[in-house]
Amino acid sequence: MKREFADRDELIAYLREEFPEAAAVDDHVSGTRGGRKAAEEQLAKLGKGKDYEASRNYVHGPVSRLSAYIRHGVLSLAEVRDYAVAKERLPEDAEKFVNELAWRDYWQRIYDDIGDGIWDDREPYKTGWHTERYADEMPQDIVEADTGLPCIDAFARTLVETGYLHNHVRMWFAAYVVHWRRVKWQAGARWFLSHLIDGDPASNNLSWQWVASTFSAKPYVFNRENLEKFTEGEYCKECPLYGNCDFEGSYERHQRRLFPDADPAVFGDGRRGPGRGRGRGRR
Ligand SMILES: Cc1cc2nc3c(=O)[nH]c(=O)nc-3n(C[C@H](O)[C@H](O)[C@H](O)COP(=O)(O)OP(=O)(O)OC[C@H]3O[C@@H](n4cnc5c(N)ncnc54)[C@H](O)[C@@H]3O)c2cc1C
Repeated sequence: MKREFADRDELIAYLREEFPEAAAVDDHVSGTRGGRKAAEEQLAKLGKGKDYEASRNYVHGPVSRLSAYIRHGVLSLAEVRDYAVAKERLPEDAEKFVNELAWRDYWQRIYDDIGDGIWDDREPYKTGWHTERYADEMPQDIVEADTGLPCIDAFARTLVETGYLHNHVRMWFAAYVVHWRRVKWQAGARWFLSHLIDGDPASNNLSWQWVASTFSAKPYVFNRENLEKFTEGEYCKECPLYGNCDFEGSYERHQRRLFPDADPAVFGDGRRGPGRGRGRGRR
């Protein structure tokens, strides 16, 4: 394969020609740039650990956008960790960020251990629904960003056009697919992998399983209030469905409606949702 190009346009044209099947599936060109130089530039933009800890759940919060470089081995986890710790006056200020790097390492170790087993439900769903009650394929309206839910459609478009979604968006989107539409997490995971530039079977599949509850104690759900807060109203402000959308209401209401046959013990006292109670303290 050719390795030297006059500029990015020439590289893009070459790839389109060499991989017509890929271009037929998705012809968008992501803004993410490849290579060690771009990775180092992105690493140099890493913000303060305390700011990351406070605001990482906001979709416009100070996340690192390093996942594609880490995923493809352009940056190692260890060098990112060392850089993050070294730039703090108190090393412990980098703790939350290093924790997130550790999640990646943890998923990789599981993948090493179980291989293609990451495509199987690790445990039964805790939703009260059996696996057979979930659809096998992604619904076309979701894939085509035509559900009529402005937030969900915008997320689908962003994924296809940029190859990246913020972690919180990935969680909302996965919850919508698996719990609101009752689609097998594997279908959503496959679709994500076909578009994410950081697409990685371990982080992706095990995160989908965490949302689905096949690798966690309870299904992850969210509500409009949560989405509105962490998107700073971006989608809700002008939404014609505001006050009346699929995500309206308390966590308890969604849990009761979506999982009527779930074991009540799964939700513990008062059926608290992980978005509020922060689940197992993970995200
Ligand atoms: C449904 C779903 C699918 C996902 N699929 C992928 C995937 O295919 N590839 C992927 O790299 N990550 C995946 N993640 C994890 C996470 O969303 C991304 O790593 C993160 O959003 C990347 O943005 P960032 O680099 O700005 O992250 P930052 O918040 O800046 O985190 C720094 C680095 O830590 C690692 N990291 C952060 N959060 C997680 C996490 N929850 N799990 C594992 N590693 C994490 C990543 O390497 C990331 O680059 C998925 C999460 C969910 C909920």
